[in-house]
Amino acid sequence: MSAASSPVFRFAPSPTGALHLGHVRSAVLNATWAKRLGGRFLLRIEDIDTTRLREDHVAAILDDLAWLGLRWEEPVWRQSTRMAIYEAAWMRLERHRLVYPCFASRTEIAAAADPSRLDPDGAPLYPGLWRDRPEADVMAARRAGLPAALRLDMARALQVAADLQRHRGAPWPLTYATFHAPGVEREVAADPARWGDIIVARKETPTSYHLSVVIDDAAQDVTHVVRGQDLEAATDVHRLLQVLLGLPAPRYHHHALILGPDGRKLSKSAGSESLAILRAAGVTPAEVICRAMAGL
Ligand code: GLU
Repeated sequence: MSAASSPVFRFAPSPTGALHLGHVRSAVLNATWAKRLGGRFLLRIEDIDTTRLREDHVAAILDDLAWLGLRWEEPVWRQSTRMAIYEAAWMRLERHRLVYPCFASRTEIAAAADPSRLDPDGAPLYPGLWRDRPEADVMAARRAGLPAALRLDMARALQVAADLQRHRGAPWPLTYATFHAPGVEREVAADPARWGDIIVARKETPTSYHLSVVIDDAAQDVTHVVRGQDLEAATDVHRLLQVLLGLPAPRYHHHALILGPDGRKLSKSAGSESLAILRAAGVTPAEVICRAMAGL
């Protein structure tokens, strides 16, 4: 298999906390499948959130993964070094009037939102406060020095994406490929509209998770994305951004989450499921991997 067509997997943690068993499940599935298919395994640090970023978390992630016996290709990409590339991407969207600045505060958004209209994560949909606002309002907000997030105009983006897909002879409505195990695939429908006008660049950082993840998966020739089920609905938005930016789509596997003793998904501060705590208690890497993979 040539380098260009060889499968590429990646594990892409955000260094906002310590790794837990859920991360181990993602990392090990990626590494194992990459090996089985004779592909590559990459590690990418998704450190766009400079307000929560901690260098000691980055070091701990690398140390934990090496302790588990995982090996990845160097260099490890860090999203914080790629901000200019993300900016160039949203500027393209801006030129096509697919994004608009939103100066509203969290409080204003919460006050205007309809609590019965929720996105797949359970947050109220953005009520469109700054969509189609007169240019004079935008200028006034800029003059007042208000920070702006950039939001995707979802309705317009869907129209443009439908035209692009038609022009490319590609299917519409959007779908993407999921795989149960490598090679066992099916197409599923993507419904980005249910997210409303998502944020493409945040107030405090010139990108967002959605934007940088699709750009980097494409830039690193990622063919297989393996991540937790908590990100499954986000894939709908990722497909839309891929179409708008002309990026290839990897295939996706969203694995079951590991639940904590309280029945909720593990958080970065997970106690007994935190890798640091398990290591300190003398649990071996093989035992940790067994626990992370149990029940799959
Ligand atoms: N950085 C994301 C997280 O840690 C995961 C990104 C992805 O796998 O697409 O939740």
